[in-house]
Amino acid sequence: MTAPIPEPAHRSGCATCATSACCVRLEPELTGFDIARLARARGLAADEIARLAPGHGDLAQADGVLLDGPDRVWLLQLRPADPRAPRAERRCAFLLHLAPGVDRCGVYAHRPMLCRTFPTELTVAGVMVATPEAICPPNAWDIARTDLAGARQVHLRAAIERELHRAALARWNAAASEREAAPRDAVIAAFFAWLERVTAALEAALAPHLATPAAVEAAARDLDLPRDGDDRPADALGPSAGADAGPALVATLRAALDRFPEHRFR
Ligand code: SF4
Ligand code: SF4
Repeated sequence: MTAPIPEPAHRSGCATCATSACCVRLEPELTGFDIARLARARGLAADEIARLAPGHGDLAQADGVLLDGPDRVWLLQLRPADPRAPRAERRCAFLLHLAPGVDRCGVYAHRPMLCRTFPTELTVAGVMVATPEAICPPNAWDIARTDLAGARQVHLRAAIERELHRAALARWNAAASEREAAPRDAVIAAFFAWLERVTAALEAALAPHLATPAAVEAAARDLDLPRDGDDRPADALGPSAGADAGPALVATLRAALDRFPEHRFR
């Protein structure tokens, strides 16, 4: 049983957006939690929801997945309808075309966290701001009319899930150099199977701590979230954390992660 994600009362211009540009031009990065929710709701396999795309830049980025050695990272992204389409026309596989100028999400109730929070962000100061890369139609968003309390809850849930996803990935990646060489397709299948198991354990450990808005706030505090400008998971969740794991929630989540050491490909 997992805690439902709140739906803010008002998300400004999305309901009437004529472009759905975010669903065409962006390829949201997913967590294991996003994939688990969509898989349950739609009866899909993880690789029908997500793909691992070549990453760019910093090899140490917290969302990078190491598949074939330490020299190249892959990013876990929402699967586009046509991965070979030009970047600006790469529609999300779940975007429904209803009529000219009317495209709507086909999995709205189960959409990934980044789809829920875009184009806003939560800073340490707790201020909601439009993200610099916002691509919405002019005047689509009116922060004054947006349900900020509801949006904060979604942001905190997203931050908690991303923190745990990154802590799990750190364990997978730590074993990259020890993993036996294998065809990439086989490693990807092993990765998705491992991600499904570790995410299920984390969902079960986390659910009792997300029952109310106050509980979500407390869970975020225990995990030291949100944090500005630092995408690494807290040291207390890491494989080499010391005996002092901090708050009880942190110890519970770390114990859930510790149950899945099978990070070596077999
Ligand atoms: S986030 Fe922006 S681009 Fe995406 S549906 Fe909402 S208004 Fe349109
Ligand atoms: S899951 Fe829905 S909201 Fe997210 S990119 Fe796809 S169509 Fe858009």
